[in-house]
Amino acid sequence: MVSSVVLNVISIVLVWVLLIVLVSIRRKNHAIANLLKEKSDQLQVSAEELRLLASTFNSHEPILITDQNLVVLRVNQAFLAATGYESHEVVGRKATDFSADDRNNPYEEIQRTLTSTGIFNGEVTARHKDGSNLPMHLRVSAIKDESQGTTHYVAVYSDISEQKRSQEEINKLAFYDPLTGLPNRRQIMERLDRELYLADRYDSGGALFFLDIDNFKDINDTLGHDHGDCLLIELGRRLRRHVRKTDMVSRLGGDEFLILLQRDTASEQDTIDHATSVCEKILSLSQEPYLIEGHKHYVSISIGITIFPSNAANPQDLLKQADTAMYKAKNAGKNTASFFHPEMQKLAEKKLVMERDLREALVRDEMDLQFQPQVDRDGQIRGVEALLRWTGPMGVSVSPNEFIPIAEQSGLIVQIGEYVLDQSCRQMKQWLESGLLLDHISVNVSPRQFADGGFLSSVQRTLLTTKLPAENLILELTESVVVENLEEARTKMEALNALGVRLSMDDFGTGYSSLSYLSELPFYELKIDQRFVRNLFNDRKNAVIATAIIAMAESLHLKVLAEGVENRDQLDFLRDHNCSMFQGYYFSKPLDAEDLQALLIRAPAERDPATRPQKGWVRVVGD
Ligand code: C2E
Ligand code: MG
Ligand code: MG
Repeated sequence: MVSSVVLNVISIVLVWVLLIVLVSIRRKNHAIANLLKEKSDQLQVSAEELRLLASTFNSHEPILITDQNLVVLRVNQAFLAATGYESHEVVGRKATDFSADDRNNPYEEIQRTLTSTGIFNGEVTARHKDGSNLPMHLRVSAIKDESQGTTHYVAVYSDISEQKRSQEEINKLAFYDPLTGLPNRRQIMERLDRELYLADRYDSGGALFFLDIDNFKDINDTLGHDHGDCLLIELGRRLRRHVRKTDMVSRLGGDEFLILLQRDTASEQDTIDHATSVCEKILSLSQEPYLIEGHKHYVSISIGITIFPSNAANPQDLLKQADTAMYKAKNAGKNTASFFHPEMQKLAEKKLVMERDLREALVRDEMDLQFQPQVDRDGQIRGVEALLRWTGPMGVSVSPNEFIPIAEQSGLIVQIGEYVLDQSCRQMKQWLESGLLLDHISVNVSPRQFADGGFLSSVQRTLLTTKLPAENLILELTESVVVENLEEARTKMEALNALGVRLSMDDFGTGYSSLSYLSELPFYELKIDQRFVRNLFNDRKNAVIATAIIAMAESLHLKVLAEGVENRDQLDFLRDHNCSMFQGYYFSKPLDAEDLQALLIRAPAERDPATRPQKGWVRVVGD
């Protein structure tokens, strides 16, 4: 009985043990299965990572892997291609060996960033095997183990040289003159701004030069624009040679250059002395010829100089001052320099006021014309010259010699010129209709007005609206009109001739007085400047010049008119030397339309040979 109970207990225990063993085996199996699944999942992930890594490693981006000491373990093909090295030349060396950065140690900075953030992103310069620099963008990641210790670094580069090049190109376009490669206006203005600030802060100073080539238009016209460009490039080089590295030579455009002599801690007098010596060197450049197409060409420059900070508070003012001084140098006879003085500023301000008043005068129709007779050898009034008159805001009449240049500079002359042309043609038409025998009206045309694109059509339109026959109009041009652009002038002049308008060369002898363009261009008449007439008997030279001009004009079949005839002796001399027409106070001052008309009506009787006071000659107005 006892044994059967024992047996039962044993068997129950055994069953339990068996059950427990079975359950634990099942559990273990389950755990193993889970583990296996986990491992297999992990394997799958790392296989994917490996694939990913392999494909990344073979990407187009250069990649470099180092150990924790920056010793290169592996590089990809793209790295080798970009740097020109072979794999064995890179592996085993320090990654820093391939840096061309001039920062002290860029890798120290990289490492610091990596330690704190685990990643670095920034621009570096790698070195190509041939020694050239490779601007790169670099991204470095630190690979860490379970205990967060860095085991590797993975550096991925991307080539940004193209991006850098286009950035440089953009920079160049924005800050450099494409022709000469010199800094442009924008760059020098920014630099001036900085220099003015520094001059103020450190009690120092500097100078600004405004340079303009004399008669550059002639060079362009005679040699062609390509040669003109070569000359500008060469001048830029020569200017650079005469200043310090820290000074700046810049091209403003056209034939205008600026030089900034950097601030000096010296006294203002020293700055002026230094500027003077640089200026002398630059002026002496006119002795050095430019070789163009095997020929030597000499070029002179006019320079305006202003000293800062005493003269101006901002770059624009400084530029204006240097420009004003440059104009003074030009007026003083070119190939010279002039320093800016505050008095010049006053003059410039006066000009500005006059320009404003002129604008208002135009709107308020405050200008009118006077007419001065032009008389032939027989004493007949053949034509009149229209001369503009303006009574300024203070009730004082302003000389055209004063306001015409300002109108010219401001561009107002185009509008003023249209007004003069319209009024002149209208008046002439009216005189002709009232039966007065006048051959022509002469109208002055200023260079800027002539150069204006709308000039030709404005003449055409005026003739049409006023119904004045074109042959009754003479346009007086000055020499500078022609010289500034010979070809363009010729085309316009021929077109005017085709309309039937005649052309006269005004103030001959005061400018270039070149025989060649007179013979080439379709002029009808030449006006000897009154300076020669006035000094006909004071200086023999003038008599010789006047005689030569008349003879020359004759040989070119041009009529010659002498301006400013004030007395009988001048008239006799000029008439004896074959001058064909005369104008001056001896006959009449400029008159308003009414007085001139009265004179014209009176004149025929006086022109009667029977009543002539002297042989062959009639005085038109009283003695
Ligand atoms: P210009 O064309 O040479 O005109 C002749 C100038 O000499 C006129 O001066 C006239 O009044 C002056 N004149 C005439 N005869 C004598 C004389 O016997 N002795 C002296 N001393 N002077 C005499 P004005 O009217 O003062 O004009 C000066 C200049 O202003 C003109 O010189 C011309 O260049 C310019 N001008 C006048 N009106 C106009 C105009 O409507 N348009 C343009 N663009 N310029 C004009
Ligand atoms: Mg004139
Ligand atoms: Mg004149």
